[in-house]
Amino acid sequence: MKTSARAVVIGGGVVGASTLYHLARIGWSDVLLLEKSELTSGSTWHAAGGMHTFNGEANISRLQKYTIDLYREIEALSGQSCGLHPNGGLMLAATPGELDSLKLICSRARYLGMETEMISLEEARNLNPLIDTSHFIGALWRADGGHCDPSGTTHAYVKAARQLGVSVERFTRVLSLGQRRDGTWDVVTDKGTVHAEHVVNCAGLWAREVGHMVGIELPVLAMEHHYLLTEDLPELLGRDKEIVNTTDYAGEIYLRQERGGVLIGTYEPHGIVWSPVKTPDDFSMQLLPEDFERLAPYFEVGFRHFPALGRVGIRKAVNGPFTFAPDGNPLVGPVRGVRNFWVACAVMAGFSQGGGIGLVLSRWMAQNDPGQDIISMDVARFGAFATPKYTSMKVPENYSRRFRLAYPNEELPAARPVRRSPIYDRLKAAGAVMGANFGLENALWFAPQGVAPAETPTYRRSEAFPVVRAECQAVRRTVGLYETTNYGKYEVTGRGARAWLDRVFASRIPKPGRFALAPMLNPAGRIMGDLSIACLTEDRFLIVGSGFAEEFHMRWFLASEPPADVSVRSAASTLNGVSIAGPRSRELMQHLVRDDLSPSAFRLFQVRETAVGFAPAILTRAGFTGELGYEIWTTPDYFASLYDDLWNAGRELGLVHFGGRALSSLRLEKAYGSFNKDFRPDYTPGETGLDRFIDFSKLDFTGRAAALAERAAGPKRRFAVMEVAEADADVVGYESIMKDGAAVGYVTSGAYGHCVGKSLAAGYVPATLAREGARLEIDILGEMRAATVRLEPLYDPQGLRLRS
Ligand SMILES: Cc1cc2nc3c(=O)[nH]c(=O)nc-3n(C[C@H](O)[C@H](O)[C@H](O)COP(=O)(O)OP(=O)(O)OC[C@H]3O[C@@H](n4cnc5c(N)ncnc54)[C@H](O)[C@@H]3O)c2cc1C
Repeated sequence: MKTSARAVVIGGGVVGASTLYHLARIGWSDVLLLEKSELTSGSTWHAAGGMHTFNGEANISRLQKYTIDLYREIEALSGQSCGLHPNGGLMLAATPGELDSLKLICSRARYLGMETEMISLEEARNLNPLIDTSHFIGALWRADGGHCDPSGTTHAYVKAARQLGVSVERFTRVLSLGQRRDGTWDVVTDKGTVHAEHVVNCAGLWAREVGHMVGIELPVLAMEHHYLLTEDLPELLGRDKEIVNTTDYAGEIYLRQERGGVLIGTYEPHGIVWSPVKTPDDFSMQLLPEDFERLAPYFEVGFRHFPALGRVGIRKAVNGPFTFAPDGNPLVGPVRGVRNFWVACAVMAGFSQGGGIGLVLSRWMAQNDPGQDIISMDVARFGAFATPKYTSMKVPENYSRRFRLAYPNEELPAARPVRRSPIYDRLKAAGAVMGANFGLENALWFAPQGVAPAETPTYRRSEAFPVVRAECQAVRRTVGLYETTNYGKYEVTGRGARAWLDRVFASRIPKPGRFALAPMLNPAGRIMGDLSIACLTEDRFLIVGSGFAEEFHMRWFLASEPPADVSVRSAASTLNGVSIAGPRSRELMQHLVRDDLSPSAFRLFQVRETAVGFAPAILTRAGFTGELGYEIWTTPDYFASLYDDLWNAGRELGLVHFGGRALSSLRLEKAYGSFNKDFRPDYTPGETGLDRFIDFSKLDFTGRAAALAERAAGPKRRFAVMEVAEADADVVGYESIMKDGAAVGYVTSGAYGHCVGKSLAAGYVPATLAREGARLEIDILGEMRAATVRLEPLYDPQGLRLRS
């Protein structure tokens, strides 16, 4: 065995094999894959091999398509068959909500270049004659996908990688990992020690245990999963084509042809966690005992929906474990604070996702950049809140919903509440309907008396629609209170703080008492964050950004190597915040603040440390609604008093609560983009419009060269808000934006603009179409709707209210 390697990949399942192949393809041939048993011996060998392109997140869908298209390449390179059955997929809807979701998939697929269409049930039955169409109301057909041979595919990756020079050691178990002072690793195995610069955890069922070797607790857990193989079906005899792989949402069933019979699997509602505390060392190529009694009711639904299956016997049952993260997406990337340690685990759809994961991870390792936005599968989307207890509740919830549709207005109940602000109970008492963001409860909207604080899951407008309208109108007419504790907050202090921030951020770093919008770029000039920086004193700064991205941004800050005289700390749990917005907000604040808040004394983008009522606070004149507004930050011990003071002072001015839904509507009326939706590492300063906050006169900041090059050449596409022709539904995200029948972009966010009376969609359109009044179309739930580009904000385009 080699004693040194540039990288050691732990695990020879499909994900480790793909990672190995992609590292080799990017030019890292000095890579060693270590597998404690035979290749595929974790969850890979007994997988059903199904592959599909659909994912609720566009970039993951794209990587899934990449994975499926890759199989021909590795077959050609390796000479090893992947056992491909590219027979496409059928998705069946039994309810109007499911039908809406299929139409949304069709709209999304256009820009992703995937062939999908809504088809009649008759056509569906031609593709799969086993369907009893009386249970369904609609069907979607997609050309991509089908199934492959799990073992053949894994071996094809490994053989192709070996031809590029990498090494593989089977029956070699990694026992421990020791990090040297220079950040390199001693990988201790039962066959000796390998010295490696990088280590990648692709240990699948054992990813948690490999995480423990470096002192981290990855949010990953295995679930048992059953499928059945039937005896041959007379209905399939003599057909010249296999039936199309079929997903039945209502039955929570998937099925496909396996020789002359059918493979049918289910994601049952009360799934069983496998090995909740420790995965046995000696588990390898084993199956788990079948549990027909528990699963019978769920398979029976399948036998009703596909009656021919009930008329033949079961040839074999498979019960095997595989792993999930709390939200069902993989965990990929570097881990903050553990140098040169990478993860690619919790992959529940290895045959749809493995290739894409290998691709982005290899770029990340070799080029320090995954090359595209992958926040939805970045390990950094979880923080300290994702404890083993959280994971143990969320993973079974996710498993039970694997084939349920995720409605855009749906909040999942498991492991709630985890993080609560000191005013949680007060907001609940005021009718707050909560969502969870990075584990923290935050108010989405406030049910007034007589309205139930609950919402029907739907792709269309819900009962919250008129309530959110009232919240928006009250903010624009009088004054509203929104809790901002769910924003990401960071304190940067020390003598070198300004110089370090100057290098990390592309904007000018504000002087004491000022606050500035601050884009942060990666070396390729793409957006890593649109944060704001408040300078409290020459060496103390408060940075505010997206709460979802707290771990993501902390990892980026630390990777940007703050020098010894700079301290960077997350203030997620040490600062609470509230935004007061609306024309009467100054009047309200002046009741509680001794300083003069008149327009000339406390201007837009000023910041001050002062007392607000009882609370020592940081007060900024800023906000995200486009109205006159303030953000107030204080510590948790004062926060409830601050809230009470604000509420008492505001009552007679007409103060109302508003939640995240209203904020989305208000910000789109002002054409403000939001990180992780509209602004992501896929986009550049020129495309987002954030270039207006860049200080191009600075000689050194991350991403400068790329930003300058883009400024010279001009952006190819631009962020724009579009006014969409009215119907009873608004965009939810990723719908294709069409021009003359061709998809030219996709929607990044949307809302109804209650104060401008228009349905709004935001997204990127080619620069040539980024003209006032340009006519486009968006397919919303099967209807092509006119979309008109509006270059100026629809509300208060001159920003007079913000500055008032
Ligand atoms: C019944 C069933 C049906 C499925 N159907 C599908 C499907 O249709 N489509 C689909 O895409 N996915 C399916 N899956 C999921 C799929 O199996 C997984 O997504 C995939 O196998 C994950 O691969 P992996 O490489 O991450 O993990 P694993 O396959 O678990 O591989 C991890 C490897 O790491 C090795 N290892 C662990 N620790 C060490 C150590 N300390 N030292 C050395 N080696 C180590 C293990 O021996 C193992 O070989 C199914 C799973 C099951 C159980």
